[in-house]
Amino acid sequence: MNTNTQQIQVDILIAGGGPTGLALACALAGNGLDILLVDAGKEGISFNTFAAQAGQPHFDTRVSALTVTSQQFLESLDIWNKIANTRICPYHEMQVWDGEGTGSIHFTAAEIHADCLGHIVENNLVAAALMQRASAQSGLTLKHEDQVTRIDFEDTGKPSARVVARLASGADVTARLLVGADGANSFVRQQGGFNTREWEYGHQAIVTTVKTALPHQFTAWQRFMHTGPLAFLPLYLPGADAADQRYCSIVWSCVTEGADGIMTLDDAAFRHRLGAAFEFRLGEIQESDKRLSFPLWQRHATDYVQANMALVGDAAHTIHPLAGQGVNLGFADVQALSAVIREALGRGEDFATHQVLSRYQRRRKAANLGMMAAMEGFKHLFGSDDLALTWLRNAGLRLADQAPLVKQRLIRQAMGL
Ligand SMILES: Cc1cc2nc3c(=O)[nH]c(=O)nc-3n(C[C@H](O)[C@H](O)[C@H](O)COP(=O)(O)OP(=O)(O)OC[C@H]3O[C@@H](n4cnc5c(N)ncnc54)[C@H](O)[C@@H]3O)c2cc1C
Repeated sequence: MNTNTQQIQVDILIAGGGPTGLALACALAGNGLDILLVDAGKEGISFNTFAAQAGQPHFDTRVSALTVTSQQFLESLDIWNKIANTRICPYHEMQVWDGEGTGSIHFTAAEIHADCLGHIVENNLVAAALMQRASAQSGLTLKHEDQVTRIDFEDTGKPSARVVARLASGADVTARLLVGADGANSFVRQQGGFNTREWEYGHQAIVTTVKTALPHQFTAWQRFMHTGPLAFLPLYLPGADAADQRYCSIVWSCVTEGADGIMTLDDAAFRHRLGAAFEFRLGEIQESDKRLSFPLWQRHATDYVQANMALVGDAAHTIHPLAGQGVNLGFADVQALSAVIREALGRGEDFATHQVLSRYQRRRKAANLGMMAAMEGFKHLFGSDDLALTWLRNAGLRLADQAPLVKQRLIRQAMGL
């Protein structure tokens, strides 16, 4: 990296050090490129600290259900084993039911001869493992507590110009490619003039960690109500036996007014309300951690690329968390974009042209749109208390539960296969 204090020159500038930005940096490092990743947040927990504390029953409030496809990607970056040996929870079954009817569906890994359906992983463990890997890469520099605050283009007179990004610290970074991995409210997307299509749900997702009276049985549970879905995702406590695996991360989507009320409840009242909403399937809620709430949007950038700029992860598409696919779609973007850049390097092409970057958009847009359309369909199907729709979805769930081929297809899709 060519730097003097205020002028930095790199091949690729990545704005955002969430899971997708860090994974992209790791996937691109080692190809002879100079890469700078700038993240607005603090560095976060180190991998060694996380590993030392993994046996303690304190879990990150934010978790992700990683699919087998994401697992394979993290294996290719050589960090999956580190994550798996620290603290992750495989889930072997899924129980999904309609809280306002009689329909239900039960998936098991055995139905498709797999070991598990996926893994619940704490976000800060994934971040810590990616950070450790990224810090060891040559040609890759990480800068925390700084952010992109302005974007200009330098006219080189060639078909492909260069981007000049001003950082909050005052430095100007000149790059051939600026990647916006800066999350749902992406500054790069907004300043880069990317158009979006968005739907506000008027819903909030409440997340926290709870301890239940009964063990979670390594099962992901989801109850659908017309006010939104409630998920209990199993967490693994190393050293505890199966009967003591009683920690779950919950994601409770509610209409905003209802969510505001739930957020202000004291712990005892919250636990009781949550237990009742979950029909006490795992008994009483005995403990609960601090609660966070997130407004729910579905948002999709019309284009993911321009000359010298690309968007990945939530910057390109923010999806309802009901199927837990956000990080998985972001990792799939990263795989596609890094492959397109490596292929262009191999052919001696300029990887930052619109023509080359469009290959990434073509590989990802249809899949992301398909997932968003499916979430929208689910949202309308389960978000209605209309009698005809209630009958339809309950009949549909019962039929699907009794049709092995349909179930196998649903399971494989949920696993990202
Ligand atoms: C309640 C809830 C539950 C979820 N559950 C799941 C799940 O089970 N499975 C799943 O796959 N997904 C889940 N998701 C979605 C998932 O969390 C997101 O898809 C994922 O975090 C997106 O990663 P990202 O790296 O694209 O963005 P982010 O994680 O948002 O990271 C963006 C980063 O950019 C930085 N940044 C912001 N602005 C700038 C700037 N101008 N310059 C530099 N840096 C900047 C921020 O500090 C941040 O570190 C859930 C989401 C919610 C809200």
